[in-house]
Amino acid sequence: MKRRGVAILGSTGSIGTTALRVLSRQRERFDVTALTAHTNAGLLAEQEREFNPGYVGLVDGSEQARAGWHRGAECLVDAATRSDTEIVLNAIVGAAGLDATLAALKAGKRVALANKETLVVAGALAEKACIEGGGEIIPVDSEHSAILQCIASRPSSQVRRVILTASGGPFRGWSEEQLEQATVEDALRHPTWTMGRKITIDSATLANKALEVIEAHFLFGLPYERIEVVVHPQSIVHSFVEFIDGSVVAQMALPSMELPVLYALTHPDRAEDDGMQPFDPVAVSPLTFERVDVGRFPALRLGIEAGQRGGAAPAVYNAANEQAVALFLAGRIRFGDIPRGIESALVSLGDLPGGSRDELIEADARARRHVMELI
Ligand code: NAD
Ligand code: MG
Repeated sequence: MKRRGVAILGSTGSIGTTALRVLSRQRERFDVTALTAHTNAGLLAEQEREFNPGYVGLVDGSEQARAGWHRGAECLVDAATRSDTEIVLNAIVGAAGLDATLAALKAGKRVALANKETLVVAGALAEKACIEGGGEIIPVDSEHSAILQCIASRPSSQVRRVILTASGGPFRGWSEEQLEQATVEDALRHPTWTMGRKITIDSATLANKALEVIEAHFLFGLPYERIEVVVHPQSIVHSFVEFIDGSVVAQMALPSMELPVLYALTHPDRAEDDGMQPFDPVAVSPLTFERVDVGRFPALRLGIEAGQRGGAAPAVYNAANEQAVALFLAGRIRFGDIPRGIESALVSLGDLPGGSRDELIEADARARRHVMELI
């Protein structure tokens, strides 16, 4: 069997290291062709020794690179467009992953997309890049991987709605007053998933679910009215698809990103992998579902509204959120200031034009400045 080349952008992060764990068990099917990271040269060097890729890139200039490594933000696009690479796993966090996704799609690659911010900032441009270059996006996000598996190539006209599950995050059941005082440590204590810091905070504000609703809108061509969210604290059902005949199909697995990563590489096929944890329905029961309390988590409503508004609004939402989360993690603003900062940015900048990459990058930069000026 010919091995398929996989480039991993963001290889030192939570998804990146998960992917390398999966790939270490799948060496007959896949070759690692490129690795990039922002920081953590030590781990990147270890990964290079283990997987021997043809290309290694370190974005941040302040760290010591090894001989032969490429430097700077340009290395992301280089790594994403190599001729030995069929699949680009984009596991970068934030809008910083945008150009690499677009370049890979234009170069005809499959993008295994963990970097959901790409679709939030520039979903329409990503669609256009797929058409122009013949690339495709296969989601790594567990909910979207679930939906893809449930839809199983049926046309969107046969889908009545999709229901994304949300764990509810660490603050499910907290009062508004408690939420206001929540610390960084509280917010980083996710009940079911171990992930990078930014997405962990997004899961606590439910901004992550708003990003995922927008992601689903672009991936599956569904209007926002046909995308719903339900809280499912056990994180076993990764999403539901309801078809026009009323049948509801769900995908289940234990909460681990290994399966969605592997599926994004093998779709529409499945590969044997004896490293996956065995499933026992009795051990995971009971499975419960609750309505989302939108009032206590305004970041969810703001994000869905930004998606519906279109133009640069989703890019403003995303950038304001990225900036506010960074400030919260640095101890400079309170938890409740995150949605307040996002809302303020959307009120001021939500109508900016967003037809081109440069307009979206400009809206992104202005939203970050707006949030900085609030403090
Ligand atoms: P992380 O912070 O653990 O890792 C991010 C990686 O990207 C690191 O390798 C880092 O060096 C690199 N990076 C950061 N900033 C960069 C920049 N400016 N330029 C280039 N590289 C940069 O994050 P993560 O939790 O692995 O999440 C990655 C993406 O996957 C996010 O978009 C997140 O929303 C999504 N995602 C993550 C999970 C999860 O379980 N961790 C689940 C679903 C989706
Ligand atoms: Mg998800």
